[in-house]
Amino acid sequence: MRHICVLGSTGSIGVNTLNVVREHPDLFSIKALTAHSNVEILAQQCQEFQPELAVVGTATAAQALEAQLATLSLKTKVAYGANALIDAATLSSVNTVMAAIVGAAGLVPTIEAAKAGKRILLANKEALVMSGDIFMSAIKESGAELLPIDSEHNAIYQCLPDANTSNGGSRGVYGDLGVSEILLTASGGPFRNTSFEDLQKVTPAQACAHPNWVMGRKISVDSATMMNKGLEVIEAHYLFGLDSQFIQVLIHPQSVIHSMVRYVDGSVIAQLGQPDMKTPIAYGLAWPHRIDAGVEALDFMRLKGLSFEEADHHRFPCLALAYKAMEMGGVMPTVLNAANEIAVTAFLDEQLKFLDISHVVEETLTRFKTHPANSLETILNADHEARILAQEAMKGMMQ
Ligand code: NAD
Ligand code: MG
Repeated sequence: MRHICVLGSTGSIGVNTLNVVREHPDLFSIKALTAHSNVEILAQQCQEFQPELAVVGTATAAQALEAQLATLSLKTKVAYGANALIDAATLSSVNTVMAAIVGAAGLVPTIEAAKAGKRILLANKEALVMSGDIFMSAIKESGAELLPIDSEHNAIYQCLPDANTSNGGSRGVYGDLGVSEILLTASGGPFRNTSFEDLQKVTPAQACAHPNWVMGRKISVDSATMMNKGLEVIEAHYLFGLDSQFIQVLIHPQSVIHSMVRYVDGSVIAQLGQPDMKTPIAYGLAWPHRIDAGVEALDFMRLKGLSFEEADHHRFPCLALAYKAMEMGGVMPTVLNAANEIAVTAFLDEQLKFLDISHVVEETLTRFKTHPANSLETILNADHEARILAQEAMKGMMQ
């Protein structure tokens, strides 16, 4: 039985997790739910799943939630703030944590859950991008299982050798097992065919209208700039212990092949499916078994062909910036992520132009004096400092 904490239960991944859990009450129970401010939805989720603990971002939100739960006479304890998120992720009754908070806010509770030896279902890619080696060491030291939920990494996990016999994602070097490279597929996002001129004036609504996936606003913008794929290259590097030259990005507009692994003997193993996050979520929850995810079967007769293209680095410079940050090493992936979060928030608030997102990130990487990422504290400080630099870099660009 998996006893689950969902960090970010009101988001796109959180809601899909509960959709899978709902169908398998014999296998899964919900012990803790967390959300930032959406009290209304969290109260409904508490009513349905009756967790021990529910966590929100602020005292005001906690009061509002308590008031709603009182009318339902639920025993769920309500708490708020950063320490309460850690409490939820490390509850003794929890053995599985879905890390589905968006951005840097998810880092500390996720790493604490890893230290506490919980099974980590990792959707929150920013947490791994920021803390890379430290996160993977925490997993190794505690013996925790780490299962990637990001669809591409989940696909790669399924295509790599011995995926079902070892301990989560901490399987070390694949070269000895005949892997020659990872082919990380990307849809290309909503602007795959948009000209550079037209990219100057795209709006948040256009950027958030992804052709294949329904997702939260931040990751939707990241998909539109292709920073999402950049973050995923870094994510793959840490998860699978592969250097960047072994990770190739391939545009595949249909989002049917979720990623592939190429072997030295000429074989390529791919994972295919509907673009529906319930598949990787169900895989992570049930691993090493398989359960019905409530996803429509892939109908090959209705597929209009699978096509592939190279990524255009001129229109999508964020991808190259991510490779650059990874190669610079130390805290630079943290800096990349922090600058991107600042720039995306400003874009969503209509204060920054779409094409300036990459300029803010590039400028911040240039201004930051790099150093090794040798502790969680160092990483959190670099995140803080990079946000200040990004705000400064943005000043001349604001609309
Ligand atoms: P979302 O915006 O829909 O949901 C985010 C969740 O995090 C919400 O529950 C929100 O309440 C919570 N949250 C936001 N800010 C917070 C804060 N400061 N403190 C505490 N909680 C906070 O996002 P999403 O699309 O569900 O994505 C979640 C994560 O999963 C992201 O890291 C994203 O990159 C990753 N991911 C998402 C998808 C997808 O299909 N949506 C696919 C792959 C990976
Ligand atoms: Mg992905």
